[in-house]
Amino acid sequence: MSQDIEYDIIVVGAGVVGCTAAAALGRDGRKVLLIERDWSEPDRIVGELLQPGGVKALKELGLDWTLDGIDGIIHDGYVVYQNPEDHVLLKYPTDRGVSQGIAFHHGKFIMNLRKAARQAPNVTTLEATVTALATDETDKVVGVSVSTKTEPGAEPVLSTIYAPLTLVVDGCFSKFRKDLSPNKVTISSHFVGMVLKNCNLPYKHHGHVILCKPSPVLLYQIGTDDTRILMDVPGKMPTGGELKTYLKDTIGPQLPKSVQPSFYEAIESERLRSMPNQWLPSAMNKQEGVILLGDANNMRHPLTGGGMTVAFWDVVHLRDHLHPKIIPTFQNSNTLVRSQMVKLHRKRKELSSVINVLAQALYSLFSANDQPLMMELQKGCFGYFQLGGRCASTPVGLLAGLRPEPLTLFNHFFLVALYASYTMTTSGPIYMVPYNIVKSILVLWTACVVILPVIWTEIRA
Ligand SMILES: Cc1cc2nc3c(=O)[nH]c(=O)nc-3n(C[C@H](O)[C@H](O)[C@H](O)COP(=O)(O)OP(=O)(O)OC[C@H]3O[C@@H](n4cnc5c(N)ncnc54)[C@H](O)[C@@H]3O)c2cc1C
Repeated sequence: MSQDIEYDIIVVGAGVVGCTAAAALGRDGRKVLLIERDWSEPDRIVGELLQPGGVKALKELGLDWTLDGIDGIIHDGYVVYQNPEDHVLLKYPTDRGVSQGIAFHHGKFIMNLRKAARQAPNVTTLEATVTALATDETDKVVGVSVSTKTEPGAEPVLSTIYAPLTLVVDGCFSKFRKDLSPNKVTISSHFVGMVLKNCNLPYKHHGHVILCKPSPVLLYQIGTDDTRILMDVPGKMPTGGELKTYLKDTIGPQLPKSVQPSFYEAIESERLRSMPNQWLPSAMNKQEGVILLGDANNMRHPLTGGGMTVAFWDVVHLRDHLHPKIIPTFQNSNTLVRSQMVKLHRKRKELSSVINVLAQALYSLFSANDQPLMMELQKGCFGYFQLGGRCASTPVGLLAGLRPEPLTLFNHFFLVALYASYTMTTSGPIYMVPYNIVKSILVLWTACVVILPVIWTEIRA
C-alpha cells in the first residue's frame, strides 16, 4: 500500500480532549492533524462546570487562559440541600494549589480550546467526518477515512489520511469505541437541562445540589444572566407534555423558593434538552496504531461534574508518556507506545478511579428515593458533611479532583456508613436498640453493595 505520511498523529474530534491533546503534542514538536466534523460553536448541556482539579490540569498544560473572556463564573464550592430548610455548605479546600472552579457556557469554552489548538505550532485542522479507521493487513491502525464537504450541497469527497498514530477522542457517542474497547456503556438515567434567566440562587458562587425525590437536581450559574439546571430523570424518559408536567408538579415544589420563579418561567420559554447519564469503565489501549481516550473510553455519572477534570489530566499524562525524549518518533515504535499506554492506564487511575467511584456512589445515595436503607445512608452522608472540618473538606477535595487518592475515598465512604450506623443505633427509645443494631448492620451491608462493585470494576478495568 503506498501511503503519503504527512502527520505524526491524527486526532479524531476537536472537543475537550482533542483540542488540548493537539495543542500539547504540537508544542512537543509532533505534526498533528486535528479533525472535527463541525467547527461551529457547540450548543450542548454538557461540560459546564470545571472543578479546581481541572483548572490545575489546564495550568499544567499552559492553557488556563482558555478560561478567560467567556463570562465564566468562579465557584468556591457546593451547597447541598437535603430539604428546603436543611442544607450544608461545602467549600473547596484551600491547601491544594487551586481552590476555585469555574462554570461557563460549554460552547464558549470549546471555542477557546479550539483557538488554543489552532494557535499551537505544528497543528493542522480539518473539517471532515471520520468514517472509519484505516487498518493494514495486521489490523494495525494506519490512519483514518474521512468524508469532507467542499461546499454546501456538494457531494462529499472521500479520502484516506495516514499517520503512525491516531488518537480517537470522539466523545460519549463514540463511533469507534466498539472496535477498541471491550466494555459496554450503561445508562443509569437522563439529565434534563434548561437555562434559568436571572435566577436568584441562595448562595452565589456555589454549585447547588438539591436532594429531590426521586433523584437529584443540580444548579450552577454559567454566565452573568444564566444558570444551568440539570434534573436527573431515572428510568424511562417522559415525553413532551408529560415531561413538562413532571417537572412542574414533582421537581418545582422541591426547589429552593428563590429559584422557583425563574424555574417556572423557563419551563414555558426555554428549550428542554436531555442527555443520557452513562457509565463506562476504562479500557487499556492495546491495539497498535491507535489510542482511545476521553468519553470514548471512560464515563461516569455527571452528577459530580468530573468528566473534564479527568479528561485534562489524561492529556497531561498522555503528553508526558509520549514525550519525544521517551519516544523520539511514532514510526515503527508500536511496542514502545504500547508499553507507555500500559503505564498511562495505571497512572490515570489515581484520579479517574476516585472521580468515577465517587460519582457512581454519590448518585446511588442521592437517588435513594424511598428505599429505607439507602435513605439512612443518604442521611448519614449529609450528617457527616455537617460535622465540618475534614469530614467536609476531604470529600470535597476528592470531588474537586484535587486528591487523586483512592484509599482516602474508600476510608471516607466507610466512615460515612459507620456514622450512619452509629446515629441510627443511638437514636430513638432504648427498647428500639436491638432493632436499630440490626438495621445499622444492614446499612453497612448496603454501603458495601453500593461501592464494592464499582471499586471492583475500577480495579479490574
Ligand atoms: C449531561 C452531562 C453534563 C455534564 N456536565 C459536566 C460538567 O459540568 N463538568 C465536567 O467536567 N464534565 C461534565 N460532563 C462530562 C463532559 O462533558 C465530558 O467528560 C467531556 O466533554 C468529554 O470530552 P471528550 O473530548 O471526550 O468529548 P467531546 O467534548 O464530546 O468531544 C468529542 C468531539 O468529537 C467530535 N466528533 C465525534 N465524532 C466525530 C467524527 N466521526 N468525526 C469527526 N469529529 C467527530 C464531536 O463533534 C466533538 O467535537 C457532563 C456530561 C453530561 C452527559
